Amino acid sequence: MPKIIIISNRLPVTVEKKSNEFIFKQSAGGLATGLSSLPSDMDYIWIGNPGITLENLNNDERTKLKFKLINNYKCIPVFLSSENIKYYYNGYSNRTIWPLFHYFPLHTFYDQLTWDEYKKVNKIFFNEVINYVKDDDLIWIHDYHLMLLPEFLRKKFPSIKIGFFLHIPFPSYEIFRILPNRKEILDGILGSDLIGFHTYSYVRHFLSSVLRICGYENHFGIINLSGRIIKVDVFPMGIDYDKFHNADKDEKVKKERNELQKKVKKLKVILSIDRADYTKGILQRLEAFDLFLDKYPEYIEKILLIMIAVPSRPKIDSYNKLKNQIAELVGNINGKYSTLGWSPIWYLYKSFSFKTLAALYSVADIVMLTPLRDGMNLVAKEFIACKNNKRGVLILSEMAGVAEELAEALIVNPNNKFEVADSIRTALKMPYNEQANRIGKMQNRLQSNNIFKWFESFIDKLKNINNYYIFFVSTRFIKEIEDAMISEYIKMNRRIFFFDYDGTLTSFKERPEKAKPDAELYSILNKLLSDKKNKIVLISGRDRLTLDKWFGGLNISLVAEHGAWTKENSNEWFTNASLDTEWKKEISNIFKLYVDRTPKSFIEEKDYSIVWHYRNADPDFAVMRLREMKGDLLDIVANLNLGIIDGNKVLEVKSLDINKGKACSYFLNKEKFDFILTIGDDWTDEDMFSAMPENAYSIKVGIANSKAKYWINSYKEVRSLINKIGDRK
Ligand code: UDP
Repeated sequence: MPKIIIISNRLPVTVEKKSNEFIFKQSAGGLATGLSSLPSDMDYIWIGNPGITLENLNNDERTKLKFKLINNYKCIPVFLSSENIKYYYNGYSNRTIWPLFHYFPLHTFYDQLTWDEYKKVNKIFFNEVINYVKDDDLIWIHDYHLMLLPEFLRKKFPSIKIGFFLHIPFPSYEIFRILPNRKEILDGILGSDLIGFHTYSYVRHFLSSVLRICGYENHFGIINLSGRIIKVDVFPMGIDYDKFHNADKDEKVKKERNELQKKVKKLKVILSIDRADYTKGILQRLEAFDLFLDKYPEYIEKILLIMIAVPSRPKIDSYNKLKNQIAELVGNINGKYSTLGWSPIWYLYKSFSFKTLAALYSVADIVMLTPLRDGMNLVAKEFIACKNNKRGVLILSEMAGVAEELAEALIVNPNNKFEVADSIRTALKMPYNEQANRIGKMQNRLQSNNIFKWFESFIDKLKNINNYYIFFVSTRFIKEIEDAMISEYIKMNRRIFFFDYDGTLTSFKERPEKAKPDAELYSILNKLLSDKKNKIVLISGRDRLTLDKWFGGLNISLVAEHGAWTKENSNEWFTNASLDTEWKKEISNIFKLYVDRTPKSFIEEKDYSIVWHYRNADPDFAVMRLREMKGDLLDIVANLNLGIIDGNKVLEVKSLDINKGKACSYFLNKEKFDFILTIGDDWTDEDMFSAMPENAYSIKVGIANSKAKYWINSYKEVRSLINKIGDRK
């Protein structure tokens, strides 16, 4: 069983010093509370900041504290100075990343000093972590404070397994692109093997930013970064369900509950619990409550809002400002509606223990959580878990990650105070059967997707990350296979090579002027040709003219337009395809429509096919257009014996009679070859791979589901392989 190294900004225990004694408390926040229930026999260590600053400890105390943390809590402290905290934590983490990732660009500050400190503290973490890493360990890094750490560790330990989980939202590309250091942040996270988010939307946003900013595509959430596989997936964080569900069996919880019930009497209780953070929508919620009392005065003296705001980030101005605004608004509402002996809001600016929270959840008739943005929101889950009499209603913002899982809640837009006010009334009027039905469904889900399952499924996926290579049917073309192939090659007398061009011998498919062969390519092809036992067939989707211009001077065979035209060495071009191209007009009209509607896309017309290129267009937009276009084309092509090729940033329509496989068969039927090597990168090259006899070597460039036997990383590796073969006589 490998050791798990958990790394987060804060340790699950917070250390304070009182009269020269250390006091250890459980840290606040979702991650710490959630993971506090990890089994004690699990082999793990937790590395993070213990909450006490460097200046408060002399050398001797540091050593003692470290010893205690390691032995009693399996925790390794990373000591930070108050300067570090000021710029890295209160600065870049909480005044740049936090507001921006929660869609508050106007609260976002950009400052070189805080960014430099963020990098520095990520390095401080790195320098501590490396003391504990062994080869087969699993490293799990948490949250937005440490987004550069995965890359630092990857450079030092190329093959160690690293997971990263983001506990806050990942914003849409349009927001994320605002960040000056966006590329460094993405590169940092991409040092991981497994990247987890709470919801599918965050995964989508992340992948879209990776594509647009770094240019890396993904295949069902799998990114191939120069042969290193990175999996991006959804892991909605759960809670310790049984702990909350069974909480009211605890005598202390029962007692607190009864006392609380006596205090609230017969009032209907609405509970609201958040950290005092501007992302939580507390002011908007109060306004909606004000509106509710105004609109439905029959609830005066019948209802109570218990509002708990947990103090948070007091060193940041916007948080202090919010604290004052909440107090003022609560005062106004209480002043406006209170009667002798009744006030509509109890406001508590403090944090409570688990037992008090459990008593509060149990007494509440409604829990109202309306963040403007929230990565997950565990309070919503805790409330539902606590309701073992199944009485209660959850009002939940659609902007909270948890709303994707708890669809049976009353889902509201937190910015629409009319909708929120009305949802309070709907909740108050909801019959018990319906409450029980909704809560029951949510409880079943929360019970099975609990915190332990979350932890296990992330760690399991990380442990087995190498299995994702199997997702791609072919085998990596490793050194041993290469050696075996070359020794077979040496022994054989008649050898044929089928090479695709774009993406195989050169980089991606570009406009002709950009994708011209270079001197290196000519040199390696000529080297291969210098052995008379070798025959090369260059088999491309490009037109005859281009291929002639580029390769006419070489003694090789050419196949143009995916097999429509063939030319053997210096002979004339010939075709076996039917000459009917009437259909091109009809297809061309549809393509033109899409070129007008998709900026930077263009049409290429070949003798036997028409191609729509969208490499330069906005990627997401082009994919949307592509889908529409395929819909438009489907009916037409079915009647005309035409096929649609969904290639690498191209959509091509051509006759079904033409394909690269048939072109290969032409050469293989004509002459007997005892060594065959076929290399291609595109969807259209699959026809070549299928047409190969059993003894042929077939290699796909890039990882994707393929009929080729092997895969290789890039055209550069292809060139190096051909070069090596050419060296062997
Ligand atoms: N919490 C607590 N005491 C309080 C209020 C909240 O221990 O007085 C806990 C609560 O049980 C929950 C966590 O703090 O587990 C808050 O997590 P959530 O995801 O709701 O919000 P976050 O603070 O992480 O944004």
